[in-house]
Amino acid sequence: MGLKKKAILLDIEGTTTSISFVKDVLFPYVKTHLESYLNKNWNTDEMKLDIKLLAEQADQDIVNNVPGVVPVKETESEQALKQSIISNVLWQMSLDRKTKALKTLQGHIWLDGYNDGQLVGHIYPDVFPCLLKWKDAGLKLYIYSSGSVAAQKLLFKHTEHGDLLHLFSGFFDTGVGPKVESTSYRNILNEVSCDPDQVVFLTDIVKEAEAANVSGITPILLVRDGPLSSTSQFTQVSSFDQIDVECS
Ligand SMILES: [Mg+2]
Repeated sequence: MGLKKKAILLDIEGTTTSISFVKDVLFPYVKTHLESYLNKNWNTDEMKLDIKLLAEQADQDIVNNVPGVVPVKETESEQALKQSIISNVLWQMSLDRKTKALKTLQGHIWLDGYNDGQLVGHIYPDVFPCLLKWKDAGLKLYIYSSGSVAAQKLLFKHTEHGDLLHLFSGFFDTGVGPKVESTSYRNILNEVSCDPDQVVFLTDIVKEAEAANVSGITPILLVRDGPLSSTSQFTQVSSFDQIDVECS
C-alpha cells in the first residue's frame, strides 16, 4: 500500500544530489574561477552590484568586529580592489558563511560555469525516473534546500538529463525559515495550499525529518550511503525506487 499524498517536498544535498557535488565540485569551482570571473566581468553592471554588496557586507562585518574580517578596498586601485575581493570571498567561504553578498556572487559564477558546460548538476540515477513518474501520477513536486532558490534552479536546469525545471511546482530556501524548525514547514504548507497529511518530505537529515514531522508532514529519510538505522522512528530508504507514493 502506497502513501496517498498530493505533494512531495525534496531536500537536495544527500537526497536528490550527492553531498560531494556541492562540497567537492560547486564550492571549489568558485575558488578556482573567482579571479578569471572577476577579470572577465569586471566592467559589467552586474559585477559592480556584486562588489557593492560585498563591500557593504565587509563594512558591516568591521562594525560588528567579526573576527578575521577582510575589508573590501573600494577606494583603492583596481588591482588592490580585485585582490581584496578575492581575499574577502575566500575568507567568507572558509567560514561557510551564507551572506547575501557571497551567495549572489557564487550564483553568478555558477551560472557562468553551467552555461559554458563546465558544471553539470548532479542527481542520483534513481531520481529522474521517479520524479517523472510522480509528476505524471499527478503529484506536485517542490524543493526545499538551504542553497538559494537561484542556485537550486541552476542545478536542475543543467543536469545530465537536460533542463528539469518543468518537473517542479515551486522552490523554497531558508527564506521560509531554517530546515530544522517546524514553523518553516508550516510556512511551506501555506504556500503550497496543502494540509500536512497531504505532503511527504524527503531528506537525509534526521533533525529536518523531525521538524517536518512536528508540522504534520510525513518524512522519509534518505540513507544514500551507509547502513539504515535500526532505531529510526521514520521510514528509511536508500533510493527513491523504494518510495511508494500515489496521488490522492
Ligand atoms: Mg540534505
